[in-house]
Amino acid sequence: ESFQDVDMGEIIMGNIALSRYTRPTPVQKYAIPIVKSKRDLMACAQTGSGKTAAFLLPILIQVKSSSFKEYNGKYGRRKQYPISLVLAPTRELALQIYDEARKFSYRSRVRPCVVYGGADIGQQIRELERGCHLLVATPGRLVDMMERGKIGLDYCKYLVLDEADRMLDMGFEPQIRRIVEQDTMPHKGIRQTMMFSATFPKEIQILARDFLEEYIFLAV
Ligand code: AMP
Repeated sequence: ESFQDVDMGEIIMGNIALSRYTRPTPVQKYAIPIVKSKRDLMACAQTGSGKTAAFLLPILIQVKSSSFKEYNGKYGRRKQYPISLVLAPTRELALQIYDEARKFSYRSRVRPCVVYGGADIGQQIRELERGCHLLVATPGRLVDMMERGKIGLDYCKYLVLDEADRMLDMGFEPQIRRIVEQDTMPHKGIRQTMMFSATFPKEIQILARDFLEEYIFLAV
C-alpha cells in the first residue's frame, strides 16, 4: 500500500513525500477513503496511530478543492469563517495538529490557524485576522473567540473532535455543545463530522449519536 492509492492532489502528495511518510498506517488506510467518501466517522484510535494525518489529509483535499467564494466574500473582515474546525483537549495536542496541518498545507492555498487557552489572545487574534481556512482549537478558547466575534462557524463544513474522551474527562462537554449546537453551525448531515477517541464509553456514544449522521464506526 502507498498514499498513491488515494488520490490526494499534487501539492499534498508532494507534502506527504516531504514528510517522509511512505506507507499509510492502518487508521490512515481505512479512515482516509471513508472521509473522502463524505461519510461521518467514529474512530477508536490511540495516540501514535497516525490519526492526525488520517483526518487532516482528506479534509485538506476537500478544503483545497472547495471554492473559497463564501470565505473570500468575507475576506478582509475581522471575523474569520473557517471551512474546517478541529477541536482538541490540550494546547500540546492542538499545537501538534497545527504543525501537521502546516506541513501538509505547505504551498497550498489553505491557511491553518491555532487557538488555545493560557496564551496571549491578542496575538492569536492577529494571526486569525490574516485568514483562517482550517482552525485547530481548544474548546474554552474557541468559545472566547466566538464571544468576541472573531470566529463564525457558519461555513464550517468539516468538524473533527480529536481525543473526544479526554475532552469529556477534562469537563469540556458544555463548551463543545455550545460550539457544535449553535444555530449558525451547519447541522449534522450538512457538515461532515469525524470523532476520534481512544475509548468508547456511554458518554462518547451519546455524543456520537448527537453529532454524527449515520456514521461509520472504525476501531484500529
Ligand atoms: P499521531 O498518532 O497522529 O499523533 O501520529 C504519531 C506520529 O507518527 C507522528 O509523529 C506522525 O508524524 C507520525 N506518522 C503518522 N503517520 C505516519 C506515516 N504514514 N508514516 C510515518 N510516520 C507517520
